[in-house]
Formats: sequence, C-alpha cells, structure tokens
Amino acid sequence: MDKAMDNILSYPENWHQNIWPPFTQITSSRPPLQISNAKGCLIFKDNGEPIIDAISSWWVTLHGHSDPYIASAIYNQAKQLEQVIFADFVHPQAELLAKRLSQATGLQRLFFSDNGSTAVEVALKIALQYWHNKGEQRHHIIAFEGAYHGDTFGAMSVGERNLFNEPFKEMLFPVSRATWPSTWWGDEGIERREEEAIKKLEIMLERPTAAVILEPLIQGAGGMTMVRPEFLQAVQGVVRQAKALLIADEVMVGFARTGSLFASQRAKISPDLMALSKGLTGGFLPMGITMASQEIYNTFLGNDPQKTFWHGHSFTANPLGCAAANASLDLLERNPTAYTNFESRHLPHLEQLVKHPKIKKIRLTGTIAAFDLKTDGNDGYLNNTGKVIKAYALANNVFIRPLGNVIYLLPPLCISDHQLEQCYKVIKSSLDII
Ligand SMILES: *Cc1c(COP(=O)(O)O)cnc(C)c1O
Repeated sequence: MDKAMDNILSYPENWHQNIWPPFTQITSSRPPLQISNAKGCLIFKDNGEPIIDAISSWWVTLHGHSDPYIASAIYNQAKQLEQVIFADFVHPQAELLAKRLSQATGLQRLFFSDNGSTAVEVALKIALQYWHNKGEQRHHIIAFEGAYHGDTFGAMSVGERNLFNEPFKEMLFPVSRATWPSTWWGDEGIERREEEAIKKLEIMLERPTAAVILEPLIQGAGGMTMVRPEFLQAVQGVVRQAKALLIADEVMVGFARTGSLFASQRAKISPDLMALSKGLTGGFLPMGITMASQEIYNTFLGNDPQKTFWHGHSFTANPLGCAAANASLDLLERNPTAYTNFESRHLPHLEQLVKHPKIKKIRLTGTIAAFDLKTDGNDGYLNNTGKVIKAYALANNVFIRPLGNVIYLLPPLCISDHQLEQCYKVIKSSLDII
C-alpha cells in the first residue's frame, strides 16, 4: 500500500466515504469539522464552541449567517412559488430584482445563471457574440495576470494559468495577459508601474479586441491584490479607445465588499458587462447574474435566429434566490453605513501592524484587509506558513483561509468591533509562532 493510501485509511471515520470535497487533497488535509449551526458571524462547532467566520465562508456570507430577515423571505417565497421555467414565464421577484440591479449598476439588461463561474461564462459569450452579431471579426480577449474568474472552461481560460488548471491547459482558449499593477501602503513606484501596464495594454489592444475582463479594485483568489481607481480609469480609457468591451467580474467585490455597492462605482468606471454572484443572495443561495448594457442587448434583436443568445440554465431566475437577493438589497439599503464605514474599523488594527517585522504590503479596501507574510522566497499558494497561521487561528476559534503567504480578512458586515479585534489579536499572536 502506498503512503498516500495509508493516510486516507488512517481517517476512515472522519473523511466521509462518499463526498468529494472542493479544492482539497484529502491525503494531506485534516478532515473537516462538523457544522450544523451558524449565526451572525459565528459558526458553531458540534460541542457548541463558536468560531468567528472571518472570511464570510468563501466570500459569500454578506450580512451574517442565518439572517432572520433573509431566511423568512426565502420561506415565504417557497410557500408561494419555488421554481418555474423562466423561458415561458416570469415572476415578480425576478422583475423586482432586475429593476433594482439595473438602477444600481446603470446596466439595463440582466441575465440569470447559477454561480460566479457561469456569470463569467455568460459575460464572455455575450461579448463574443456581440461582435459576431455586428458582423465584425473580433475574438481577441485580454485578461490580467493573477486573475481568477472561476473553474469552468471559459472562466479558467481567462484566469491565470497555474497549478490548478495545468491538466487542462491544452484545452483552454488563448488570451493576452495584461499586467496588474497592485499596490499597498507605502508603495512608491506605483505611478510608474501603472504607466508601464497601460502602455503594454495599449499595444495588446492594437489587435482588434472583443473584450477586456478584470476584477475591479481587488483580485481575490490571486492574492487579495489591490489596484488604484486611477489605474482602472486609465484601463477604461484605452479599452474605449480600442472600441473593445469592458467586463467587470464583480463576483467577489460586488455587494458592498469594497465600501460601495459595486467596486466599479468606487473606481468610477462604467463597464459594459458585469458578473455578479457570491454576496448577491446575501450568501444564502447559489445564483449568478450577468448585467449588460442596452447597446449590447440591441445587437441580439431581430428576426435572424443567429442573433439570439442561445444560452440558459435549468434554474434560471430561481424565485427563492431572487427573494433572497431582494431581501439582501433591502438590508443594504436600510443600513448603508454598515459598509460605507467599514474601512475605518479595520484601519486602527492595520496601523498597529505596519511596523511588524514579519509582514509586508498592507492593503485595505472597504471590508477587505490583507497583507503578505515575509517568506524566504517562496510566496506561492502552496507556501506553508499560511497553513500554520490558519491552524493556529482555528485553534483560537478564528477561521481564516490564507492564500499562500497572503493573510486577509473579509468578514460579514455584522461582525462586532470586539469580534474584529479578536481576529486581529489572534493573527498577531500567530505571527510569534512562525
Ligand atoms: C469566486 C469567484 C468566481 C467564481 O465563482 P463561483 O461561484 O465559485 O463559480 C469568479 N470570479 C471571481 C472574481 C471570484 O472571486
């Protein structure tokens, strides 16, 4: 028996025999904890002990776990209409959500799917078919270094090529890779790096380009790297000049994570297409949405069947998801200071960390704070220092999930000052053991 097999069999009672977990190599991972209860920003272990969910359960939980207002909106909707085929029927929750999101984003048309990856796939397909419908040959797509846009094939193609998609690389479509000039506190060379990145992008755009896709303000899975609004405005400028479409993947940053309802608003850019998911339903139900401008939509109209967008999902505009999303928007509208003021709550904690000898590149946008651990050269996703910190934090009832050597907090809006302080305290004392 090989060693890996040996390892699996050493946990037969802990790893479920039928579940294939996401993003996990079970031969080298501890079995997951049993959870049957979570409330606010706390996840409860089976022995009743609370863990602070400092990353919103993979960036989805927006207001807090088991929020009663959203829970009852779902319950009430389930008693009325749980699902109906959306090609031949429409329902009030979808109409209301479409109107609200269209007003909030300035993008008039809304296409429903099931998750962040499909929202991105739809955006890419709409962008490519837009040019097809206009009768113009444009297939070139530009994405950024370090990007993550999801795990389906189109989304993988525009994402950074790395260990995770290596087995599929022959099957991914080619894209040009632009530079992502991320910045941090005390960064001095940023203007020059931005200028170089824009120059490089301009050269790429000399080829007729269908679309440029980016994560506005913050690249998530790529390591919580942040760019300045000025850079995104410059990108928009050269993209418009080249008449290409601009796709904002707001799957992570959308719905108040950056301190504005949408990151594009905070960055003062107006993309042609926008992908939404994660916080959309407050983190209660899987749903994806792709927003598109009326100008794009218009090119899909007419009697020629070739112009139709032949795409759809079984659960398109699921009424429960729409009800959750409308309830979540209610909560955001009722209490905007919960997100507009969040940055000032992180700030004093980060200021205390500035001079810590083991960390570098502190950065903060809205509810998301991050920094890098100083390591001896190896800064990748598989760097182990983050794992040690994660284990230490969990032993102290704070759940974080470092990206390699990047430590970040992305808490639900309901986190209390005391709980936030606890997260920083635990992270700070974890630095003593590495
Ligand atoms: C998580 C994420 C996705 C993929 O969303 P899934 O719902 O996990 O498929 C796409 N883009 C960004 C920026 C993300 O953070």
